[in-house]
Amino acid sequence: AFNANVAAAQAALNAFIVVTPEKALEAADAVDAARAKGETLGKMAGVPIGMKDLFATKGVQTTAASHILEGFVPEYESTVSANLWKAGAGMLGKLNLDQFAMGSSNETSYFGNVISPWRKQGSNAALAPGGSSGGSSAAIAARLCPAATGTDTGGSIRQPAAFVGISGIKPTYGRCSRWGVVAFASSLDQAGPMARDVTDCAIMLEAMAGFDPKDSTSLDMPVPQWEAGLDPDMRGKKVGIPREYRMDGTDPEILASWDRGIEWLRDAGAEIVEVSLPHTKYALPAYYIVAPAEASSNLARYDGVRYGLRDLPAGANLQDMYAATRAAGFGDEVKRRIMIGTYVLSAGFYDAYYNQAQRVRTLIANDFKAAFEQCDVILAPTTPTASFPLGDKVDDPLAMYLNDVFAVPASLAGLPAMSVPAGLNADGLPLGLQIIGRAFDEQGVLNAGLAIE
Ligand code: GLN
Repeated sequence: AFNANVAAAQAALNAFIVVTPEKALEAADAVDAARAKGETLGKMAGVPIGMKDLFATKGVQTTAASHILEGFVPEYESTVSANLWKAGAGMLGKLNLDQFAMGSSNETSYFGNVISPWRKQGSNAALAPGGSSGGSSAAIAARLCPAATGTDTGGSIRQPAAFVGISGIKPTYGRCSRWGVVAFASSLDQAGPMARDVTDCAIMLEAMAGFDPKDSTSLDMPVPQWEAGLDPDMRGKKVGIPREYRMDGTDPEILASWDRGIEWLRDAGAEIVEVSLPHTKYALPAYYIVAPAEASSNLARYDGVRYGLRDLPAGANLQDMYAATRAAGFGDEVKRRIMIGTYVLSAGFYDAYYNQAQRVRTLIANDFKAAFEQCDVILAPTTPTASFPLGDKVDDPLAMYLNDVFAVPASLAGLPAMSVPAGLNADGLPLGLQIIGRAFDEQGVLNAGLAIE
């Protein structure tokens, strides 16, 4: 049934880059075989999922939605996807995304933008599914798959989840292995599940997470039983409301939904306390220095020699081939990030920009440490607005970057953070609320999410 839904919706939503119906069916058949043999079933037995096309999948094209990787078929499997197959899940296909996970609307994909299944009341304008995990969010919202992988460098799980009314959690940095995930900004990249509800996220995160010696930043800690630990009772818990997140430019409807979320958590027994995260306003500028700096280094490997596309003009030497391949292979947003990144890392500007941004990052992490002495979890909006029409921000990178204003602080601090649906706005579009937790306390985040859900 899911294979049929995926095929039927492709023209309208463009959520998938490649479909693999046979892999989803194999997983379903494996459940029958395991049952017949009396074997115990894995956590995700038979569940058909979508795989963001940023995860290397053995024998299946992996593009990061970039022309430069078109035709690249990995000979290895990412650790996270391998963990999911081990737990019994099956792959419906590779999901569309913003090119190299850079973007907030899915409009930077080489394979065309994903279209949200949602519409404003009384309008037929196509809306952004969020980004970069927009194929994942659209596919789940349209019921093409019950769950999908996402990655979150500066909001790419949480913002698309909020835009389509689903749940998604970015775990603590290091929980999910980055091995085999196409790198964007290595000190920020983190994989996580996106699904219809908090319980499904808990189940899938258990399957995805775990120590991996192949990723030097992988957390060497046991994976908690998050599903078994789910508990929406917030009595005895303190929920922090960060004063500095009441920013100018935030939609009044977002502020109203935040107030409703506060009431829901109070009803669930939580004590509400105001907390301060004084360096919040520097998080977005720091992110847009650190992330492009790391991206410019990570993307140096796409040179036309090792992967995918090669543009070799007649009579060209090696340098010409690099230049021609990159000119043709990278999209505009990717080139913009590479240029910003190499600039802030260059000898004359390193101290003024990159080093300074790293210091700001420490201040932001310290803000959270201080706040979590007064509360157990933090509640904030996920995004400053609901979803917007495709095309609206495409020519204004700064307006696009502002989408991430509430998402990037938790990314810079490496903390677990989740978006859960929080009802609809006056136009009938979904809004999301964000819960940020202490490092390693995914359980606290999931439980507060469950209380809101
Ligand atoms: N929208 C942000 C960016 O463009 C975040 C992307 C992400 O988390 N992968 O960098």
